[in-house]
Amino acid sequence: ASALARAESLITSIPDYPKPGIVFRDITPLLTDAAALRTVVEALMEPFAGRIDAVAGVEARGFLLAGAAAIVANVGLMPIRKAGKLPRPAASMSYDLEYGSAQIEMHDDNADGARVLLLDDVLATGGTLRAGRDLLQAVGSEVIGIATLLEIDGLGGREALGGDVHAVFHV
Ligand code: 5GP
Repeated sequence: ASALARAESLITSIPDYPKPGIVFRDITPLLTDAAALRTVVEALMEPFAGRIDAVAGVEARGFLLAGAAAIVANVGLMPIRKAGKLPRPAASMSYDLEYGSAQIEMHDDNADGARVLLLDDVLATGGTLRAGRDLLQAVGSEVIGIATLLEIDGLGGREALGGDVHAVFHV
């Protein structure tokens, strides 16, 4: 099998987590494998080589890939955090969840005019990535693309983001 197919095979499906009827896709077995981790990070970044100044990831699982991706692409890293954790005044964006709402925040250092790739591990409904894109645009960044390791098809995430998403794997 190809290196990518081997990496994909390491993603584990957990039935009925966190709730009955939900199949949770656990990428941690892939992360622990050195060759698979490098393979997927390179595949995630491949379409954007030479076109970005920074990678942004949303806390917490988005950080896992964003840190690795920033080093591979030799660009900066913009962490987008859950509300209430940043030490200085921060830009913020609210978004709706299935029940209730959430808020994300970021500092605007080096953000104005930056060409940014926004990453997350899994794309489901797209709410998290859409809020991240809105927040990056609010601080003046140009969102060059959105990329995810695993897109869960059929939940409307791609449509919520306007269709232009680079997904390494689909399920
Ligand atoms: P969305 O906002 O697209 O509905 O959900 C995506 C967010 O929830 C991502 O930040 C992702 O980390 C998390 N998420 C949703 N479903 C899964 C899943 O099956 N596996 C993992 N690892 N994360 C998930």
